[in-house]
Amino acid sequence: MQHFSEAEKDLYRVAREKMVETQIKARGIKDPRVLQAMLKVPRHLFVDEALRDQAYGDFPLPIGEGQTISQPYIVALMTEALELKGNERVLEVGTGSGYQTAILAELSLWVYTIEKYPFLLERAKKILFSLGYKNISFKLGDGSLGWKEVSPFDAIIVTAAAPKIPQPLIDQLLEGGRIVIPVGDEFSQVLVKGVKKEGKLYTQTLEPVRFVKLVGAYGFKE
Ligand code: SAM
Repeated sequence: MQHFSEAEKDLYRVAREKMVETQIKARGIKDPRVLQAMLKVPRHLFVDEALRDQAYGDFPLPIGEGQTISQPYIVALMTEALELKGNERVLEVGTGSGYQTAILAELSLWVYTIEKYPFLLERAKKILFSLGYKNISFKLGDGSLGWKEVSPFDAIIVTAAAPKIPQPLIDQLLEGGRIVIPVGDEFSQVLVKGVKKEGKLYTQTLEPVRFVKLVGAYGFKE
């Protein structure tokens, strides 16, 4: 892991404070625990060295394999919608850079994260271990199938767009559990939040978004 001087660390802390004020609070994110996690997690460590000075910008960035680290506001919006209090077991589909994983690990009991690209999973694992997170389980594979062996989950977050909400994920959600997932194709997507009540999923649309595709059995074809 690269070494940062105290002055560099201060610069990144200031950039994080500005990001939270101008991109996240300003757009209506209020959960103090989410804001605190976004202030704490060093987002610049989850992007390539060449992109570090852009890590706190108001946009997604490339992370390799044609994938992206999500825009900070979208990470905050999705996390807030999961309504985490600290004692939840959370499934994340699409580890990507591992940045969203770190935010979830700050806010819940245990995170189960699945990624389809070995390179991305291994890199995320390395960074998350080096930051000291011990409440994360990693899996390589098709997250559209969920993770049956360790289900059910209090909350599920999918960070790639699906044609519709995968049924295995609904099945693996606990009663009262929340799922947040972008739904749609490459031209038009909305962020959907679902809450499971008496075995049925009640959904609401949050806002239009633009994500890479969920590729898999209950996602799009390769
Ligand atoms: N949350 C991530 C972050 O903060 O960096 C952003 C992830 S990126 C927008 C979406 C990720 O979903 C990509 O890494 C992609 O490889 C992964 N993905 C796509 N389809 C998948 C599937 N069926 N199972 C697991 N991961 C998948």
